[in-house]
Amino acid sequence: MRHFSNLIFDGRLCSQIKGKIVQAKTRVLVIGGGLSGLISASLLAKSGHEVSLFEKKHYPFHRVCGEYISNEVIGFLKREGLFPKHVDSPGIENFEFSDTLGNRTQLKLDLGGFGISRFVLDQWLVDRARAFGVEIIERANVIEVKFDPKEDLFELELASGHRVQGDFVVAAHGKRSKIDKVLNRSFIQKRSPYIGVKYHIKANLDHKVVALHNFEGGYCGVNAIEDQKFNLCYLGSREQLRHFGSIEKMEQEILWKNPLLKAIFNESYFLLERPEVINEINFEPKNPVEDHLLMAGDSAGLITPLCGNGMAMAIHAGKLAAEAIQKGRSRAEVERIYRVNWDREFRRRLWVGRWTQKLFGSPFSSRLAFHILDKSPFLAYKIIKNTHGIPF
Ligand SMILES: Cc1cc2nc3c(=O)[nH]c(=O)nc-3n(C[C@H](O)[C@H](O)[C@H](O)COP(=O)(O)OP(=O)(O)OC[C@H]3O[C@@H](n4cnc5c(N)ncnc54)[C@H](O)[C@@H]3O)c2cc1C
Repeated sequence: MRHFSNLIFDGRLCSQIKGKIVQAKTRVLVIGGGLSGLISASLLAKSGHEVSLFEKKHYPFHRVCGEYISNEVIGFLKREGLFPKHVDSPGIENFEFSDTLGNRTQLKLDLGGFGISRFVLDQWLVDRARAFGVEIIERANVIEVKFDPKEDLFELELASGHRVQGDFVVAAHGKRSKIDKVLNRSFIQKRSPYIGVKYHIKANLDHKVVALHNFEGGYCGVNAIEDQKFNLCYLGSREQLRHFGSIEKMEQEILWKNPLLKAIFNESYFLLERPEVINEINFEPKNPVEDHLLMAGDSAGLITPLCGNGMAMAIHAGKLAAEAIQKGRSRAEVERIYRVNWDREFRRRLWVGRWTQKLFGSPFSSRLAFHILDKSPFLAYKIIKNTHGIPF
């Protein structure tokens, strides 16, 4: 808190940085303390930058997320001292798919992943970030961000009224934030038909399997996380929720038509007091750099959850944003490096994810997807490969 007061009253602390040329040590402001924000903040602090991260909530907290992470991140997290090796995260090797009628098939995953709750993972990354010297400011809702081209400086305004200045901003505020409205980003104008719902459950299921069970209008992921628990998280329809009037009724009338889901709901013990729920989940394309902000993670584009790759992408994007700031010799160069690397890593994956999602959530298309997975594993592997990246 002492640091934060300095920061407020001193305004910009790193006053020696002027003009277009980026000095070795700059002051970076990170909006949002999810995976992309925490990773970029940690890497930048480790390389000597002065970093403040603003998170509107208070850690630890639950998020709507399937909590299956692709193994592509393990090497990176271990190298950077960010891998939560103290947690008993189950390794996940197989993929199970069921169509809306409950016909199921299984495939071995080429890369696989592991399960860990965001409650535990984010808290671990916050502790690491603090240890690396990041100033983490919780309950700090950023309501305005402005770039002053004359001063070559950013200014953030918090809901508390405080203003903070910095040389770079990593905008890691997730899939949708009031900040997007302030920035007048085009995707924010469009309404999304999706809702997301998450539970933690105790269930008698295979710990090595990540399952995707289809139902009319959406799909539900189930996979193991730490402490012998499972995550059950689904992407459903806002319209169906409106129609049935409650989550419970909608689940009984819609999700339970898939007998596999009905069995899981009836035979499991639900651990959270109530589900985590979000709406307005938007898969529209976005831009990785807007108004000189480096958009990292979902703020630059949310991959459809069926790919189970959003967390890996957020971690990777946090790394790319940090590297661009570390390597670029001018603001223009930082932005160019980030844009080029982001496009190379993610643009195609996001596109494949949007197209693959069309095979989910209806009786006909989920039946077709079932046949592809069951009868043409080669094609299925090709699609799956294109929905995630390679280890980095
Ligand atoms: C239904 C569903 C299931 C999913 N399942 C999986 C899965 O199994 N595997 C996977 O890899 N991915 C999954 N994803 C995607 C994954 O959750 C996201 O891609 C990932 O969390 C993105 O991380 P992030 O750092 O970009 O954003 P987030 O983790 O959302 O973090 C953004 C942070 O910014 C904060 N914030 C927002 N606005 C402000 C502000 N103005 N001021 C301050 N702070 C602010 C928020 O409070 C939040 O903490 C799923 C997504 C959905 C919707």
